[in-house]
Amino acid sequence: MALIIDDSCINCDMCEPECPNEAITMGEEVYEIDPALCTECVGHYDKPTCVSVCPIDCIDPDPLHVESQDELLVKYAAITGSKN
Ligand code: SF4
Ligand code: SF4
Repeated sequence: MALIIDDSCINCDMCEPECPNEAITMGEEVYEIDPALCTECVGHYDKPTCVSVCPIDCIDPDPLHVESQDELLVKYAAITGSKN
């Protein structure tokens, strides 16, 4: 499941450089996560690193982009070009 940043984001810039998939960019008002690139950090870390660094806990699972662990691994492989 990709994650989503809600509109309480304070644009603190903490999460953007931490994303291993470069899925986080500045949007019109607040930072946004590209669901095509977010793997919940599967393949890179044990847990979503953006959630770990966000000081106000405004990053949540995106119910519109539900994915299994296996699907996230396939996405990770496609993004990184790695075989698994
Ligand atoms: S969960 Fe990981 S891959 Fe997804 S946006 Fe956050 S840091 Fe990037
Ligand atoms: S770390 Fe949290 S508050 Fe800071 S820019 Fe990212 S989503 Fe917004």
